[in-house]
Amino acid sequence: MSDGCCGTTAIEIEQFTTAEQTDTLPVVVIGAGPVGLAAAAQLAERGLDFLVLEAGEQAGASVAKWAHVRVFSPWKFNIDAAARRLLEADGWSAPDAEWLPTGAELIDDYLAPLVKLFGDRVRLGSKVTAISRLGYDRVRTNGREQAPFLIRLDDGQELQARAVIDASGTYVSPNVLGASGLPAHGEETVAELIDHALPDVLGTDRDRYEGTRVLVVGAGHSAATTLLTLAQLEDTPITWAIRAGNASRTYGGGEADALPARGALGTRLHALVASGRIQLVTGFFAHRVAAVDGGVEVISRDPSGAEQSIVVDRIISATGYRPDHSIAAELRLDLDPILGSTRQLAPLIDPNQHSCGTVPPHGVDELAHPEPGYYEVGVKSYGRAPTFLMATGYEQVRSVVAALAGDWEAARDVQLDLPETGVCSSSLAEAQEQRVGLATGISGGLLSTPLPLVTVSSGGGCCG
Ligand SMILES: Cc1cc2nc3c(=O)[nH]c(=O)nc-3n(C[C@H](O)[C@H](O)[C@H](O)COP(=O)(O)OP(=O)(O)OC[C@H]3O[C@@H](n4cnc5c(N)ncnc54)[C@H](O)[C@@H]3O)c2cc1C
Repeated sequence: MSDGCCGTTAIEIEQFTTAEQTDTLPVVVIGAGPVGLAAAAQLAERGLDFLVLEAGEQAGASVAKWAHVRVFSPWKFNIDAAARRLLEADGWSAPDAEWLPTGAELIDDYLAPLVKLFGDRVRLGSKVTAISRLGYDRVRTNGREQAPFLIRLDDGQELQARAVIDASGTYVSPNVLGASGLPAHGEETVAELIDHALPDVLGTDRDRYEGTRVLVVGAGHSAATTLLTLAQLEDTPITWAIRAGNASRTYGGGEADALPARGALGTRLHALVASGRIQLVTGFFAHRVAAVDGGVEVISRDPSGAEQSIVVDRIISATGYRPDHSIAAELRLDLDPILGSTRQLAPLIDPNQHSCGTVPPHGVDELAHPEPGYYEVGVKSYGRAPTFLMATGYEQVRSVVAALAGDWEAARDVQLDLPETGVCSSSLAEAQEQRVGLATGISGGLLSTPLPLVTVSSGGGCCG
């Protein structure tokens, strides 16, 4: 009998695969970034078959795009425990626990040796374009849980999996320039003149900015860091555009700021604006972009309809990142309507309540979707919240993999120890690296105030 249009008639169950057959399939991990590879390490330790599919040609392909940036969390928080055990068993020595690596060091000293251990269980150049269930679209229910996942790659190849851990990040889907979350009109036509946050202004990208008029759009720490770096190029005129009526949120509270390092960064930025080195434009709602003679014009239209325009040579769009859930469009996801994380996770990571150091640890229960066996982890799991830390991602995958192994006790014993100080310390970063300024992309990531000891069990509240 086929599905009727009225009510719940008996529906024929065509079972293509038995639960036993599905269980013999590998767990597929999407993305060989820090969290995807941590998932692989956890799976390897648990003796579960797995395959990592990575779109790029190297481990940490997204990290490689910010290779010049020094992170603000020291090595001791950037190495997954299972990965450390596997690497050390192979003769690897961990880098100095207190050192803050650059993105390049993160790859060379950790991700690259780790990926070598997994051999052909990591497939590079394998971009996932869609995930579904074999024989099941999103609507079909009966027998769904036993059906293997079907994963399609950009070359048309299809693979099957017993579970999918999606650690594909958000770096490849930056927010748009348009102030209402929609692309500014014409944004695509001038895409080659728009860079996203944290270009290597004083290094490999220097020629692109030296002596050119640059507009930085955005009010977060990535924008602030980019502006401070650009200001070191003496002959580069800089305009900084924000939606707000003033930049006080970016400046922080100066010496009175509860987060002194944020205050210091803000104070430096404020001074550059006050001196005229950086021209601040407030109430700027990017609406239209167009190539004009000798540059690009960015036109703002505010909610009242008033327009203003800026002409520059290049734009740096420091407007954050968003997750791309389209590859999972045939799966049953339960997403928070604001952040695009799971609903259960949203209140724990809300940037209005949390900085990166105060997000409580969380695991399989907070990451579960109505689609059993599909988990988004890592920075993608946070949706648009900019509060992610690798350390919390490592705890996520430890919990998810324990659940996949049937060890629910371990899966639910979610813990994370962050020290009272230092996890997001920027003063250390600045001492180590004067050249590039702070590594961030994470608002609230500039903590140097003492953080409380965070040892929280699942379901615990905010520890900030
Ligand atoms: C500039 C910057 C500084 C940061 N500093 C810190 C810090 O100090 N401390 C900290 O803890 N966190 C920091 N973060 C945040 C976060 O920890 C990092 O972004 C981290 O790289 C996230 O790891 P991930 O594995 O979740 O995702 P990513 O590192 O983004 O990895 C995702 C991987 O998936 C691949 N991929 C994407 N789409 C597909 C697809 N369709 N198919 C197959 N593969 C795909 C990508 O190529 C990439 O290799 C920083 C982030 C940025 C941007």
